[in-house]
Amino acid sequence: MTIRPILIHPDPRLKKVADPVAEITPELQRLSDDMLETMYDAPGIGLAGPQIGAMQQILVMDCIKDEDEEPRPMVLVNPKITWSSEDLSTYEEGCLSIPEQFADVERPAEVDVEWLGLDGAGHQERFTGLWATCVQHEIDHLNGKLFIDYLKPLKRQMITRKMQKLKRERARG
Ligand code: ZN
Repeated sequence: MTIRPILIHPDPRLKKVADPVAEITPELQRLSDDMLETMYDAPGIGLAGPQIGAMQQILVMDCIKDEDEEPRPMVLVNPKITWSSEDLSTYEEGCLSIPEQFADVERPAEVDVEWLGLDGAGHQERFTGLWATCVQHEIDHLNGKLFIDYLKPLKRQMITRKMQKLKRERARG
């Protein structure tokens, strides 16, 4: 398993719609292993393919934060939201592609998601709480959307400028 570099906003790849996965291959298995390793190392609770420049409909997540609880690494291929609750909930979201910036985002509190598993079978599950927020945030990535796109333009521009500065500093080393 390899820890991959995470793309930092602004990057055109983070604005693109990712391609659907046609079939589960050994390469896709390796990609998902790398994505989980990269996510846990960051550390983060979710990571989508485009964030490491893999323009495919694949995301990984594990929202178990309690160290006494068993980890639950999930890999979702071609995920689709099939139902969203009318009830909304607000979480202070962050993103591995927008380091150290956080903002409240309101989303449906519960969602039903269908996806293809690495086992090649179809799966579905109702997500609630942090899992619901996380899966919606990651599916947004597969559609070229970031959590800052929900913010007011001024706040979004402020964060984007900070990220441009961060990228310049990192490029200089
Ligand atoms: Zn993100």
